[in-house]
Amino acid sequence: MTARASEGPATSANEIWTATLQELANKLRREQLQTWFLRVAPVSFDGQSFVLAVPSEFHRNWILESYNAAILNSLKGVLGYTVGLQLIIDPERAALSNISVPEQTVVIPAAPRNHAPAARELPPVVAPPQLSLNPNYTFENFVVGPCNRFAFAGAMGVAENPSKAYNPLFLHGSVGLGKTHLLQGICGELLKRRPKTRILYLSCETFTNHFIGALEKGALEEFRRRYRSTDVLVVDDIHFLANKERTQEEFFHTFNAVFQEDKQIVLSSDSPAQEIPTLQDRLISRFKWGLEAEIEKPCLETRLAILQRKARTMNVQISDEIARFLAERITHNIRELEGAINRVVGFAGLERESITLDLVHRAMPELLKEQTTVVRFDDLASIVAKKYHIKIQDLQSRRRHQSIAFPRQVAMYLSRKYTKHSLEEIGAYFGGRDHTTVMYSIDKLEGLLKENNQIRETVDALVDEIGRSFPRNN
Ligand code: ADP
Ligand code: MG
Repeated sequence: MTARASEGPATSANEIWTATLQELANKLRREQLQTWFLRVAPVSFDGQSFVLAVPSEFHRNWILESYNAAILNSLKGVLGYTVGLQLIIDPERAALSNISVPEQTVVIPAAPRNHAPAARELPPVVAPPQLSLNPNYTFENFVVGPCNRFAFAGAMGVAENPSKAYNPLFLHGSVGLGKTHLLQGICGELLKRRPKTRILYLSCETFTNHFIGALEKGALEEFRRRYRSTDVLVVDDIHFLANKERTQEEFFHTFNAVFQEDKQIVLSSDSPAQEIPTLQDRLISRFKWGLEAEIEKPCLETRLAILQRKARTMNVQISDEIARFLAERITHNIRELEGAINRVVGFAGLERESITLDLVHRAMPELLKEQTTVVRFDDLASIVAKKYHIKIQDLQSRRRHQSIAFPRQVAMYLSRKYTKHSLEEIGAYFGGRDHTTVMYSIDKLEGLLKENNQIRETVDALVDEIGRSFPRNN
């Protein structure tokens, strides 16, 4: 990690971060800088990836969601090329940052370091943060597929008809699948349609912190007034209520007050309400009053569409082969999928090369390692047989009827991809054929996959199912 960082003062992480903060100061408001960048410390820079320490997971997510692009752009401005950004959670290190946030938001060429220690204040206790939305998290940028269609429709319904369509809207799904994106999409769309809408959008963690702060300061009245005088209340990651009895109690009253005023409530969670540990029954039942929609893991086709969309917004071209290479390996988390393409594009910029499969291998060597998912013949054959409504014994037979010969070719192709067996072994398993027959079958199928959409869709679905049934252990 430190190879180039130690080359000299001009490239040290500290120097770079100081200059980057100056750049950021031109783009962000002073409060934003104070709130989010004071307790952030540079850790290392290896020429490709810049590592920062931040105090908490919440801080990390907030920076990633709101300031990722600004930081990357500023780093690029400082370094002259695109690099990756990694945020590690290390409160101690973050607290020890000796780099102060620039005082003024004006351009100071070759800015001297500002030694005045800046006030290390927490964000204000009672007032929730100003609505700050990630400009990329819009409905237009959201790729809709079978995994999220229902949730997307719910979100659209709410944005079009707040308090009328579904109340509350409760979205759940595991991490990195687009919950925050949809929540912010709703806020953006609401504001587009009715700019005067009062929206309170915040994470459940912020709600909790405000509540505790208000309790300590004896400012509950003000807290309640603030939270209850809104047209739309959007609370992200409501599973954070787990094991927080007092905050649950307060949220219960907030929910009731807002709901009774006929105002819209939107919530997201990483699990269904009834699976949030210790969540009170009365909250569980309220969360189900409106529409509950799950966001599932995206299928291969959706992952491919997301990659291509992301590449377009980054103004780069990636071939189908490369999109597939990534999408077949990163199956569970869209944030990771985006991270992969960022990394590949950053790496290409750094190496001044075009994006080839070889470059992808070098940029993400761990993906190659993960390819060693090994599926057993029997498991693979059973998935293929089921898809084509035939028996495993048919696949293993010498029968040549098209209804069997074709699925057999598919099975051979997938065996080459997902088992460690040689062509000879594959041939032996599928009806005692020799390796040239296997090679011919695989070639033929690869040709068909290029030409025939329907076949490609079926094989994609199989690849997807294998990926889900036998996840790589990462
Ligand atoms: P969650 O809140 O569920 O953990 P996020 O909303 O933060 O997930 O999504 C993670 C990343 O993936 C974000 O950058 C988001 O824009 C992107 N993303 C998720 N789903 C989609 C989608 N359907 N289309 C495009 N981008 C998506
Ligand atoms: Mg989220």
